[in-house]
Amino acid sequence: METAVFRLEGVTKRYGDLVALDNATLSAGENEYISFLGPSGSGKTTLLRVIAGFEQPEQGRVYFQGRDITNTPAHERGIGFVFQNFALFPHLTVIQNIGFGLTHGKHGLSAAEIDRRSREMIDLVGLSGMEDRGVDQISGGQRQRVALARTLTMQPKLVLLDEPLGALDANLRGRMRNELRAIRERLGVTFVHVTGSENEALAMGDRVVVLDRGRIIQSGTSDQIYDTPASPDVAHFLNRFNMFDGTLSGNQFSGVFGTAPVSRASRADRDVYAIRYDRMRVLPVSATPDGPAVKATFIAAEYLGSSIMNFFEASDGHVIEMEHHLSLGAPDSYEPRQDYLLTWNPEQAIVFGREAA
Ligand code: ADP
Ligand code: MG
Repeated sequence: METAVFRLEGVTKRYGDLVALDNATLSAGENEYISFLGPSGSGKTTLLRVIAGFEQPEQGRVYFQGRDITNTPAHERGIGFVFQNFALFPHLTVIQNIGFGLTHGKHGLSAAEIDRRSREMIDLVGLSGMEDRGVDQISGGQRQRVALARTLTMQPKLVLLDEPLGALDANLRGRMRNELRAIRERLGVTFVHVTGSENEALAMGDRVVVLDRGRIIQSGTSDQIYDTPASPDVAHFLNRFNMFDGTLSGNQFSGVFGTAPVSRASRADRDVYAIRYDRMRVLPVSATPDGPAVKATFIAAEYLGSSIMNFFEASDGHVIEMEHHLSLGAPDSYEPRQDYLLTWNPEQAIVFGREAA
């Protein structure tokens, strides 16, 4: 079995009456890239702060490299933290920011050694040539790299990153995703990356941990989360499913699309039928579908780079999305304001219900 780098056992953190973390249990292996995914306020930052030691939990234990560190002060934990707003020192240069922890820590390193280590990190994060600039003389993406390098010079075994790409524009975010993964692989340390973006979490993480209202509601590989979301909330949050309300009764689900056979369903607090955007098929309105179908009016299409998203509106106003991956061939085009039948293979639906086993 893989050794856990860190482990949380039943961690609860309250702020007054508010339960920011509710009985969180989780472990992370060596050399993993883990994403924490959750909406704003779900407890992501709190979870990182508890692991780093900036917050004390009311209940539960935190283990790091096999030791109970619940009561160990943050600066003795050897865990790196990259803050959401970077928190650079504005009056220091790039290299001074990066060497700050080594210069001011109890390491007793020589100036030459500090300089050597700082330059190594500058090289690693691609900032060579910018050593002597002020941190207000570099771009947002470069400041992000300084923040990362400053953490990495301390040679942590675990690096916590709080929405590290949130302040960057979309283009740069994509590039930094790849760089973060590459840097992590070169160093061989575990990264925990917090994000509110499902795309980012699913693209970055070897493993994705989904948080909602302070609770860990699912943990798995990107594929597992994508293919088997644990609850209607996770499915909704992934932003990849058309979700229909209705009634699950025995092996059938009745909704706006009529009645569909159900082979598997997961227990939940409500009845929901979910079908992925890229599992929908579009037929002429006169066709006779061999499965469940909804009549809907085509509204618009949006080009997303590797796929096209088509938006339809059902008679009840519900927007239904159909995604066409361009790798599967040229897309069909649809006439605005025309009716179509949207259908799918019911075997591919993800069904939740109060009476599911
Ligand atoms: P996220 O990072 O997922 O947006 P946070 O961990 O920052 O969420 O916050 C979780 C909940 O705890 C939120 O409701 C937030 O308002 C609350 N919270 C966070 N920090 C504090 C604090 N220092 N004092 C009081 N409430 C806090
Ligand atoms: Mg946060």
